[in-house]
Amino acid sequence: MIQRPRGTRDFLPDEMERRRHYEGKLRSVAKRFGFRETATPIFEDSELFIMRSGPNILDELYAFKDKGDREIALRPELTAPTIRMFVNNMSNEPKPIKLFYFGQCFRYERPQSGRYREFFQFGAELIGSATPDTDAEAIALAVSMIEELGLKEYRLRIGHIGVLRQKLLDVGIPAENMAEILQKLDKKAYDEAGPIMEVLGVSQNSMDEIFEFTDTIGGVEVLDRVPGEPGDYLRTLASRLSAMGIDGYDIDLGVVRGLDYYTGVVFEVEAPVLGAEKQICGGGSYTLSQLFGGEEVFSTGFAIGFDRILLAMEKEGIEYESEGIDVYVVPVSDDTRPDAARITAMLRKAGISCDTDIMGRKMGKAMKYASTVNSKFVAIVGKTELESESVTLRDMSSGEQKLVLISELVKEIQF
Ligand code: ATP
Ligand code: MG
Repeated sequence: MIQRPRGTRDFLPDEMERRRHYEGKLRSVAKRFGFRETATPIFEDSELFIMRSGPNILDELYAFKDKGDREIALRPELTAPTIRMFVNNMSNEPKPIKLFYFGQCFRYERPQSGRYREFFQFGAELIGSATPDTDAEAIALAVSMIEELGLKEYRLRIGHIGVLRQKLLDVGIPAENMAEILQKLDKKAYDEAGPIMEVLGVSQNSMDEIFEFTDTIGGVEVLDRVPGEPGDYLRTLASRLSAMGIDGYDIDLGVVRGLDYYTGVVFEVEAPVLGAEKQICGGGSYTLSQLFGGEEVFSTGFAIGFDRILLAMEKEGIEYESEGIDVYVVPVSDDTRPDAARITAMLRKAGISCDTDIMGRKMGKAMKYASTVNSKFVAIVGKTELESESVTLRDMSSGEQKLVLISELVKEIQF
């Protein structure tokens, strides 16, 4: 039997309905914040992702040559494609440009719980300015989305990568080694970062100071330790967030983010219930447009790992109940099938979700099937009822039945 590729999933109807339900909630929050939805291709020129993250990204990509010898990659994320689209088509539009997207991404990773080779991101990008208000807006949207889904336990950490970058430059780390060291610091892998920094001539004292800095985490009082302009920036951000009722977060000067294009504020959300793969959202401010041939424009964006957040909700016991259908129409005998078909068509036209037997089942079996498809009502179409242009309508949750005129059926079901 042929199986699906490693790291991919099939979504059966129950799961798909649940996913669409929550996807719809995220979409409605984004719209409430004045963001508009976009979509970009599933595949792009590999170059786009290399420009963003350097050639090492190739290890993570599903990349191939197409029949015209073009280097193509399945997208591993949606920020670079979105900014490419902005540079191609939207750069003259009034700022800020507030966009959101939902779609699948592909990464050649080792599959495990919460880590797949095909996964879904729900993200947003705010293009046009580098202000604390912009970052606050992005963070508020991310938080509101998570709240809307009903996830109870999550942790938001906010940092500023500019400060750490400056510190690393100050102790003499060359620009070309920056990404490598930031990646180690992101994972708090000091035992790996240490030797590299030592080779680059960084003293033990400076190293300790940097490690202590990236270990700094706490409430807004931590900001006293952030010098200069970034400190002021973060304090303004904190006050904006507080004005919007967001204050249950940590300032974490060690939030680095894996990718190296972030310039200022960075933030992450994790759901502790997930264990190892617990990060459900990552974002920050960056400039990418100039890499893709546009002018330099500041943006802030984030992506929620849709699969992971759903996993976290499931682990917290948030249950989703299938909507089922409104009516199942059961013909009592074969000679009422034409009437069953007519009534079914009428209800569907009226916007009621409705199904009927196509398996030639006897009434009892058809009734049973109606409960497996979770139907709210069953309309029983029998000869006697038809004589008075009526059907028997059964409420499946209360078990109550009554005779209803076919002409009143729509009204009766919609109440
Ligand atoms: P991680 O450190 O877990 O690899 P990341 O930093 O690579 O995450 P981002 O590139 O910021 O992740 O992507 C945003 C979100 O997408 C992550 O917070 C996570 O929830 C989700 N995500 C990333 N990679 C995967 C994957 N392979 N499978 C499922 N979800 C993923
Ligand atoms: Mg990753």
